[in-house]
Amino acid sequence: MAHYKIHISKDNLMFAAGHFASYDGSKVEPAHGHNYRFSVTVEGPLDQNSYVFNFVTLKRMMKRISDELDHRMLLPSESVLISVEPQPDGGVLVRVGTRWYRFPGEDVVILPIANTTVELIARYLCGQLHEQLAQSGDASHLCAIEVEVEETFGQSATYREELEPSA
Ligand SMILES: [Zn+2]
Repeated sequence: MAHYKIHISKDNLMFAAGHFASYDGSKVEPAHGHNYRFSVTVEGPLDQNSYVFNFVTLKRMMKRISDELDHRMLLPSESVLISVEPQPDGGVLVRVGTRWYRFPGEDVVILPIANTTVELIARYLCGQLHEQLAQSGDASHLCAIEVEVEETFGQSATYREELEPSA
């Protein structure tokens, strides 16, 4: 079967967020932020209108997903080094060795990942997009989604998910 790819990398596909990643097995960076940019590729055969997927719909989905991360502190819920503890008052306590931080709940996003690297952020965004595509009901012909996340200029990671065509 013939496959096409469409690719979106628009100026507004970005989010400014804080994070700290662990590295070298046992170290954790100081808190800092990035202007993350990302792009999306979806692959599949053409639909009845000769599109792989509607660009406008796809851009809207990606914007919605990135808005949820914009101006937030990104915290990993599955890190062995960074302990993220939601508090009864809605705040979030974060412990990193002897350091600790306390954030208002509305300033953070707790992601179900082990480390806030661009690799895992790309996987997370890809998963979110997959969910939205599935909910849209007209993405069953797609066979792959790819999300690239750039942390600083010229430094990015890509996650690709192969889909099972369901129809
Ligand atoms: Zn960083």
